Order: sequence, then C-alpha cells, then structure tokens
Amino acid sequence: MDKQNIISDDKEYIANTYARYGIVIKEGKGSKLYDADGKEYIDCATGIGVNIFGINDEEWKQAVNEQINCVQHVCNLYYAEPQTKLAKLLCEKTGAKKVFFGNSGAEANECAIKTARKYSLDKYGDGRYEIITLKNSFHGRTIATLSATGQDQFHKYFAPFVDGFKYSQATMSDIIANYTDKTCAVMVEVVQGESGVNVLDGEFLKRLESFCKERDILLICDEVQTGNGRTGYLYAYEAYGLKPDIVTTAKGLGGGLPIGACMMFDKCANTLQAGDHGTTFGGNPIACAGGYSILKRIDNKLLLEVQGKGAYFKENLSKIKNVKSVSGMGLMIGIETDKPAREVAEACLEKGLIVLTAHSKVRLLPPLNIKKGEIDEALKILNEVISK
Ligand SMILES: *Cc1c(COP(=O)(O)O)cnc(C)c1O
Repeated sequence: MDKQNIISDDKEYIANTYARYGIVIKEGKGSKLYDADGKEYIDCATGIGVNIFGINDEEWKQAVNEQINCVQHVCNLYYAEPQTKLAKLLCEKTGAKKVFFGNSGAEANECAIKTARKYSLDKYGDGRYEIITLKNSFHGRTIATLSATGQDQFHKYFAPFVDGFKYSQATMSDIIANYTDKTCAVMVEVVQGESGVNVLDGEFLKRLESFCKERDILLICDEVQTGNGRTGYLYAYEAYGLKPDIVTTAKGLGGGLPIGACMMFDKCANTLQAGDHGTTFGGNPIACAGGYSILKRIDNKLLLEVQGKGAYFKENLSKIKNVKSVSGMGLMIGIETDKPAREVAEACLEKGLIVLTAHSKVRLLPPLNIKKGEIDEALKILNEVISK
C-alpha cells in the first residue's frame, strides 16, 4: 500500500479517536525512524514513552524471539516462567511484595483502585472508598480511570462516571480539605506527563506521605509514564525517597509490547485473593520476556546517564530564543514556548524530528539510550523551529 492509500483507508476504517500526524511510520533502528517515503526522523516520542531502548533493539528482540519460539500465550490458570521472573525482578528492585500484570496503564490503575478499596473494606468495613487524585492528573481512558483523572475535559459524554473520586490541588491544605473519614487512598503522578510534564514538589509529596501513613490511607504512585528509568530513577518516587503502598507502571516496561503492572507493597500485598481480579491477556509471556530484558538493563549506570542527558537537554533548551520554560525530570521533558505546541510538533516533523505535546507544552520522551549526537541534532531542529 502506498502512503496515500494507507492514510485514506485508515480514515475510512479506523475509529476517529486519533488526530494523527500526516506521516506513515514504517521502520527504524535505535533513535531513528523512517517513514513510508524513506524520510529519516529522530524519535523523541518513543511511541509515548514505550520504545524505551529505541527501535529494533537487539537484546530486547532476542528475548522476545526466544519466547515466541516457545509459547505465545499462557492463560493465567497455569504457571509460566516469564511472568514469574519479571514479577520477581520488579519486587527485588523496588521492595514491592506482589505484582499483578495487565496490558496497559489504565488496567494497572484499575487494579490499584480495586486493591485500595478492598484493603479498606477488609479493615474498616463498608463506605471508606474515596480516592483523592490531583487536578491535572491523568490516569487512563477506562470509565474508572477517567473518573480518577482530575481534568474536567475528560468528564464528558460517558456519564455516569464512577463515584468516589475527589480532585485536589497539589497542596496539603487542599488535600486536607478533600479528606474525609471515607478516604481510602491518594493517587499521584510524581511528574504529571499528559498535563504538561509538571514535576510535583518533593516537600509536598513527603508531607502527603506522612499524612497518609498517619491515617492508614494508601499512597498510590502512578508511574505509568515516569517509570522504568524515564526520569533518571527506576521509579520517580525514588527521587524523593517516598515509600508508596502501590505503584503502577506500563508504557516503557514492555519495551514496545503491551504490559501494565500494579505493584503492591507490604500493607496490601495480600489484599487481592483468588477470584478477586484477573485478565486473559495480562502477563503475556512475550511481553513479560521483553519486559524482563528491559528491566534488567536499567541499572545505576544507565540511570546516571539518563540524568546527565536530561540535564544536557534542559540546559540547551533553556538557551533557545522563545523558550519560556523547561520542566521535567531525566528524559521526560516539557518545553513551554510562545507558539502552539501542535504547530511546533508539525514543524519539527517537517524537519525530521518527532516530538509529543502535553497540553500547551512540547514534550520529549526520547529513548533512554539516545546518543549525544542525536540529542544535538534534535536540539538543532528544536532551535530552528522554536526560535524562528
Ligand atoms: C499513559 C498513561 C496512563 C494510561 O495508560 P494506557 O496504557 O494508555 O492505558 C495512565 N497514567 C499515566 C500517568 C499515563 O501517562
């Protein structure tokens, strides 16, 4: 199929839910992508933080291929090594006690919501089910995770939404104002990705953690986007030394295959019992084999490199004319300019650079192993586009 046919058939047969950019991505290697016309792009989007070691990564492909040659799917009625190995590694690296695997970030968060509610029900009985989330948060597209998302624009069309969510500013006074004897959990993103790469204040998060501990309210960190080395920490809560009760992750974990994980720490490790939750595809052996190969490579050396590359990006982005601010942590970066973000993204595409947007900001989520020369090429294009 040629490019125009793909685009016209896509418009005809795919649900209209995506405002796609006008390129057809065909293949790639590392931080480079090629479209159907053979045009080269530097990839600072990684499929929204998914292709965390770039495209066509040899180590990841080998792990995935080995598993494809064994068995492609094992339902959760039986044991299989890849899921067990990945869960063990996640627990060893984080101190979590149990992991539930789904197929996406939204599913990981659904599991977190269910776990928090059942933890409270088991211990305190009926009625203590409210979860405080933050204004400008994003937790997914299912009805429950949309309900958890603290942005009015997501609370349209699909009513009735799920009851029991309260939206707080990222301040202790507003948390306290939203807290009642019905509160069972607080859910936060340490860096809010979708709403503009907003880094939450560490002092606030530490106080929130103590507030939750004193009241036996579970602290849930949604690390769907921030997780798996993206911020220069294995999980972003580590940057502030937090001890959450539940951590969810997805995007980068599978290295390109769909996976989501809900990690439960001491308090709620045994909250979910046989029959309480489940999924057909969750913990797929190929996705888990890929995930294991990714997770075991995220060591301190790599994390320091991510911190260094992030700092280098930020320093040079701040020097660009018309850049109003640069936010973020590690290789999760938001750029505020005086131009509409979509316009910047379109102009970058034209010049061979793929970037994302997040509300009014341009967002960069490059591969963790992006090379210095590729960062410089990306900066050059961003400079041309933004300073013009
Ligand atoms: C992307 C994202 C989600 C939703 O993940 P899906 O895999 O799209 O379901 C949830 N939370 C955060 C913080 C995200 O960035």
